[in-house]
Amino acid sequence: MLELKNVQTYYGNIQALKGINMEVREGEIVTLIGANGAGKTTTLMTISGVVPPKSGEVLFEGTPIQKLSSEKIVKKGLIQAPEGRRIFPNMSVMENLEMGAFLRNDKIIIKQDFDYVFDLFPRLAERRAQLGGTLSGGEQQMLAISRALMARPRLLLLDEPSLGLAPIIITQIFEIIRKINKESNTTVFLVEQNANQALKLAHRGYVMENGAITLTDTAANLLANEAVKSAYLGI
Ligand code: ATP
Repeated sequence: MLELKNVQTYYGNIQALKGINMEVREGEIVTLIGANGAGKTTTLMTISGVVPPKSGEVLFEGTPIQKLSSEKIVKKGLIQAPEGRRIFPNMSVMENLEMGAFLRNDKIIIKQDFDYVFDLFPRLAERRAQLGGTLSGGEQQMLAISRALMARPRLLLLDEPSLGLAPIIITQIFEIIRKINKESNTTVFLVEQNANQALKLAHRGYVMENGAITLTDTAANLLANEAVKSAYLGI
C-alpha cells in the first residue's frame, strides 16, 4: 500500500532521513521505533507531504506521491492523527470532529462515523460540547485519533499516541487502535518511542537510528531481539 524507496529528507543542510526504505501492506499495523531525534516524525511528515523529500520515492498504491501537496495526499486517504496536544483547543469535541470530516460531503455516512467514534470512545460522547483544550491529555489523544478517523483514512498515520499518558490510558488507546485496524480494515503506520507497547500491537516493525533504518522484522521477532531489548525495551 505504501512504499518508501531510498528517501532522503533535509532541513536546510541537515540530512534527517538518509535513504530509507520501508513498506506498509494493506491491513497491517506497522510500527517505526527509535530514540529521540532518530527521524521518526520526519518520516511521517515526508509521507504526508509536509516536508517533501529531496530525493527518493514515496509510493501509495504504486503511485508516486512525494510531489503532491498535503491536501492531495489527505484526499487519497493518508490521514495523520497529530500528537494529542494538537487538536483545536478553542473548538468543542463535536467541532473538532466536524473538522476531520471537512473534505467529505457524504452526510449520511458522516453521521454514522460520528456514532462509530463515540462508540469507540464513550468518554468523548459524554464530553461532546466541551472545549478541546480543556480535555485531559488522554482525552485529547482520543480526540486526535477520532478526528483522523472522521476523514475515513485508508492508511492511518499515528505520531506517538502514547506520549505523556498514564500506562492505563496507553493500554486503552492501543487496544482501540487494534480494534480500528481489525473492524474497519484500516491500515496503520505507528510512530512510537514506547517500543514495548508498539511492538506488542504491531504486525511488523522498523528500527530507526540517526536517520537510517537499522533493523526490520516481524514485531514478535523484534520483541525477542537482544539488541532491541537492551536499546529500546530496557531489558
Ligand atoms: P522524537 O522522538 O524526539 O520526536 P524523532 O525520531 O521524531 O524524535 P525528528 O523529529 O524526525 O526525530 O528529528 C530528526 C532530526 O531532524 C533531529 O536531529 C532534529 O533535530 C532534526 N529536525 C527536526 N525538525 C527540524 C526542523 N524543523 N529544522 C531543523 N532540523 C530539524
